Amino acid sequence: MMIRLHNTLTGKIEEFKPMKEGEVSMYVCGPTVYNYIHIGNARPAIFFDTVRRYLDYRGYKVKYVQNFTDVDDKMIMKANEEGVSLKEIGEKYIAAYFEDTAKVNLKEEGMIRPRATQYIGEMIKIIKDLENKGFAYESQGDVYFNVEAYKEKYGELSGKNIDDLKSGASGRTGAEASVKRSSVDFALWKSAKEGEPAWGSPWGQGRPGWHIECSAMSNKLLGPTFDIHGGGQDLIFPHHENEIAQSKCSTGGEFARYWIHNGYINVKGEKMSKSLGNFFLLREVLEKYDGRVVRFFVLSSHYRKPIDFSEDEMKQAKAAVERIENSIIRANERLEDAANTEDNRMAEELSKVLTDSKAKFIAGMDEDFNTALGMGAIFELVKELNRFLDTNEVSEAGKKAMSESVEFIGEAMTEVLGVELKTEKQVGNMTAELVEYILELRTEAKKEKNYAKADAIRDRLAEMGISIKDGRDKTTWSI
Ligand SMILES: [Zn+2]
Repeated sequence: MMIRLHNTLTGKIEEFKPMKEGEVSMYVCGPTVYNYIHIGNARPAIFFDTVRRYLDYRGYKVKYVQNFTDVDDKMIMKANEEGVSLKEIGEKYIAAYFEDTAKVNLKEEGMIRPRATQYIGEMIKIIKDLENKGFAYESQGDVYFNVEAYKEKYGELSGKNIDDLKSGASGRTGAEASVKRSSVDFALWKSAKEGEPAWGSPWGQGRPGWHIECSAMSNKLLGPTFDIHGGGQDLIFPHHENEIAQSKCSTGGEFARYWIHNGYINVKGEKMSKSLGNFFLLREVLEKYDGRVVRFFVLSSHYRKPIDFSEDEMKQAKAAVERIENSIIRANERLEDAANTEDNRMAEELSKVLTDSKAKFIAGMDEDFNTALGMGAIFELVKELNRFLDTNEVSEAGKKAMSESVEFIGEAMTEVLGVELKTEKQVGNMTAELVEYILELRTEAKKEKNYAKADAIRDRLAEMGISIKDGRDKTTWSI
């Protein structure tokens, strides 16, 4: 079986064939670090981390680059607002990014995280090269990409065409409009205004445009052609379209071979964005919900579909994660008991569902990283495992099937999807001891045939969210 993915470049689901067998090179546009990230920004971070984890799981050696944009107009504005340097703003929000995303379990090991300001020299080199080849021109200290010179291919990713873009821009005026040859041209280099951070260049003091940053970093770290380029769907135009134009004109070869774009996170049907003011910061959401719940929520829908963020959805995600965890906690407890039957029928059924659900998990993930299908396969197994546990009977073969199920659920959820399950009883030891003690008292009540009291204890525990189950030899509990 082979991984198939939706390539924005062709608009089709295609078989994924990396350039080098067994190796994948991947670049994903990272955040502009001028603020805390909101849950909408967390989606690409979590989704592409899952892509990387799944490629690892399928045996590929993955080289994964995600950048920080640490120089841009918004950053300069923020630095002026806060009365600090651009560098300080970058440092502050990069640290905040790591603090927040660590809680949603991004796999940092082996990851490459370049900062745009470390690659200014490379950017200048590409711009100079484009100028020499006639794809760029200088105007009053700025340098623009000459879209007309690349006419045949511009728009291949977004499906836009130059004439429509021109008529859309007609009548628009601004500082840039007066110095550009055509309204569709975009800035590669911007001359420094008074008090702005600047670097020396053949065109005088200035700073790079946003699009050239990613072209330079991907080229330097992955080479002119690489396998996967990812980002949110809002980056398709103009950011990714412009990256393609610059990179192809500069290197003369192919750029990214597969383009993957994730959908938005909506609030009441509207895209969550800083400009609309309807956003929730990831750190605010994390105050209420654990990172594993946030991660589960993001991955519970297919990445190209919009997701609606709401309290209800988050509560459902929390309940779903806990359902898996409770099942594993119960199974782990039962694994400590001795086998009490030689009847293997239940074991065989569980084994069969395990085999099915493993195959379905891989098939779902292979088909355009469909995490929703993958999770569905895990829940089928959890359901069967619960049915198995409810019988209170277990053979040696049953114990084996149970332990393999627990292992697979843990691997699929935690390693591949990155949802770090908490399968230790999630209460302090003392609380756990207390529950055990209450259960002892209840057992004594039953021995004394005081069933009313035993039932009352069970009901009170249920009200607190602790459910108990009377087994043949002992009573077990779960939250
Ligand atoms: Zn980018």
